[in-house]
Amino acid sequence: MKGLIRATKIVATLGPATNSPQTIEQVLAAGVDIVRMNFSHGSADEHVRRASWVHEAAHRLGRDVGILVDLQGPKIRVGIFENGEVELKIGQKFVLDINCKMGDRSRVGLDYRELVNDVQADDILLLNDGHISLKVTSVNNTEVSCIVLHGGVLSDKKGINRQGGGLSAPALTNKDIGDIKVAASMEADYVAVSFPKSAEDINYAKELLKKAGSRAWVIAKIERVEAIRNLQEILEASNGLMVARGDLATEVGEAAVPALQKKMIRMSRDKNRLAITATQMMESMIKSPVPTRAEVSDVANAVLDGTDAVMLSAETATGKYPNRTVEKMSGICLEAEKFVEGTLDSHFLDRTFERVDQSIAMASLFVALHLKIKAIASFTQSGSTALWISRLNSGVPIYALTPEESSRRRMALYRDVQPIFFQYDLKDREALIKIAEQKLVDANVVSAGDLIVITIGEPIGQSGGTNTMKIVKVSALPADKSKQLSL
Ligand code: PGA
Ligand code: MN
Repeated sequence: MKGLIRATKIVATLGPATNSPQTIEQVLAAGVDIVRMNFSHGSADEHVRRASWVHEAAHRLGRDVGILVDLQGPKIRVGIFENGEVELKIGQKFVLDINCKMGDRSRVGLDYRELVNDVQADDILLLNDGHISLKVTSVNNTEVSCIVLHGGVLSDKKGINRQGGGLSAPALTNKDIGDIKVAASMEADYVAVSFPKSAEDINYAKELLKKAGSRAWVIAKIERVEAIRNLQEILEASNGLMVARGDLATEVGEAAVPALQKKMIRMSRDKNRLAITATQMMESMIKSPVPTRAEVSDVANAVLDGTDAVMLSAETATGKYPNRTVEKMSGICLEAEKFVEGTLDSHFLDRTFERVDQSIAMASLFVALHLKIKAIASFTQSGSTALWISRLNSGVPIYALTPEESSRRRMALYRDVQPIFFQYDLKDREALIKIAEQKLVDANVVSAGDLIVITIGEPIGQSGGTNTMKIVKVSALPADKSKQLSL
């Protein structure tokens, strides 16, 4: 329907609540653009099976849905307890003991033997995303002795963070190295690297992906103090970032996160990179059919910050209302987008460009904002023109026409970009433009009299060859209802 195309994308995590062809199809139909496979849970087989269900459901719905594999990374976790959990009381002693096999009220094992070298007396350790905090009193070769500052129930395998960061585990574990091969086999479009500290961690993941034959783009999850310090180089090495608010909040303190979110989103767009805002966005809907007012504002504010996508974790993986959560989130994004005013900041005019296709992208953006343009239609192979156009918040929808399925799935994450299947068997520019115009009319996104900007490369069909921009007034083509696109 005209005017109801969402610009901000929705990433949804699959899990037990979305573990069948039917439930996956429903959640995609509710509005998911990218599914996230969380490799901290479930077996490789399970993820591979779900990935094929996603591809099949997307085909049935006539949609392009991307897959993001989220690697577990070196999350440091406590071991297991005899009864699955214990209650820790404020002021009691508690020991993290690398030799403990079965935990109890006084001690628990841990999967990261180096912790004894990374912490010292007076450090604060946060367990279970900060719900429990411990103060280190002493450390020896095998044990970290602590006093409980904030108590609560601690259950099997919960995460441990150190306030202020500084844990030395490498970003890619042996499990991650194996999982990169799984990501390649399921044709993942994106791979998220957890807990990177530097560009080196990202480059290593890229190297492994290349070796495994994957063309997946790399998303750096920003969830460590060191990653904030090295944000420039991490962004340069990766294709985008995730504002991973869960772990980040435990390291930098939750109050610092909102401003960091704004800064990170701005920086990533400035550097032609993508941004995903993640964690607890609709948390209460894990159990409740309605979001809290604060969650509604949080999602809307991420949209106004300029995020490419908002992400759901347990809401769709284990929650009671996965479809409803996606529908609600979609509605919040649409409302917030009405408030986005397309503007070019003044330094846009001082920019210099390195490439012809980039210059065409910027020129079309300038035109789109200064002449009343309804839509931009980009003939593209790799999607790079669409990425450039979408990095400046124009609010103008960008229709990216490409025969390449992998490009369409990747572009499913880009803010403002709607990928459309378009086979370029014609080499005649005018004829191609006419067909594209018809496609947009049929899809109900433009109508007679509207102005649209077209970008195209000549000779037609070459990657990175965009060199032409044309402004077209849509002529009175009758909408062909039988050919309606599902956008
Ligand atoms: P996680 O990452 O869900 O894998 O922990 C996101 C976050 O930390 O916010
Ligand atoms: Mn995390």
